[in-house]
Amino acid sequence: MVVSLLFQLPEGPTVAVSGEEARYPVRRIFCVGRNYAAHARELGNAVDREAPIWFTKAPAALCHAPARIPYPPGTQDCHYEMELVVAIGGTGFRVAPEAAMDLVYGYACGIDLTRRDLQNAAKAKGYPWDTGKDFENAAVIAAITPAAAFGAPAAQRISLAKNGAVKQDAPLDEMIWSIPELIADLSRLYHLAPGDLIYTGTPAGVGPIAAGDRLEGHVEGLEPLVLDIAPAE
Ligand code: MN
Repeated sequence: MVVSLLFQLPEGPTVAVSGEEARYPVRRIFCVGRNYAAHARELGNAVDREAPIWFTKAPAALCHAPARIPYPPGTQDCHYEMELVVAIGGTGFRVAPEAAMDLVYGYACGIDLTRRDLQNAAKAKGYPWDTGKDFENAAVIAAITPAAAFGAPAAQRISLAKNGAVKQDAPLDEMIWSIPELIADLSRLYHLAPGDLIYTGTPAGVGPIAAGDRLEGHVEGLEPLVLDIAPAE
C-alpha cells in the first residue's frame, strides 16, 4: 500500500563511522545523569547507587561534530558536559550485565549540552528537565569507532578543553554505573535496538560556554570532537 503524506519530514540523523562508508542511523537518544561521583558533588547532589537517572533527547537534537553552532536560545548559562556515547547495534530486553556488551556497536565522543539555568529551575520545582536538556544541537556527537577497534571501556581518559584549557579530565572507570550496568538497567525499561545512543554521564569540571568558544573533547582511542560556538541567532 502506498501511503500518501501531507508533507515530507527531513531524513533522520546519522553518524559517521570511522573506517566505514556506511553511516549509523539514530533512533533514540538516552542519557544518564550523575554518573561520576565528583560531578554529582559539584552540582550539589548526593552520590548514591540507588538507580541510574535517565532522561532522553529527541533525535532532532543531534549535532554531528565537527560543527559550528549558534549559542542556544532561551538560556544565560549553557554548559558543556563531555561524555562517552555508546552506540547500540543489537536488540535486547531485560539483558543481564554479563550479556550487555554484546549489544554495543561502538563508541563516540559526545557533549550533553545543557541549559543549566532552565534545568536548575525545573529541578527546584520538581518539573521535567526537558527544556534544559532536549533542544536543537544539544546532543553533540563525533564519529563512532566500532567496539572491535576501540576495545572495552576501562581506564581510558575522557577529557574536554575549552579554548585550549583542560576543564574535564577523568578515567572512564570513575563511572558510578559501568557501561554493562547502564545497558542492563536501561533494558529493564526499553526494548533496546540498533540506532539507540546512550550518553553515559560527565565527569567533574562542567562549565559555561560563550560565543567564540572552541570545545575539544577526547576519549583515548576515539575520534576527537570539535565544537565551535557562534553568536546567538
Ligand atoms: Mn550529562
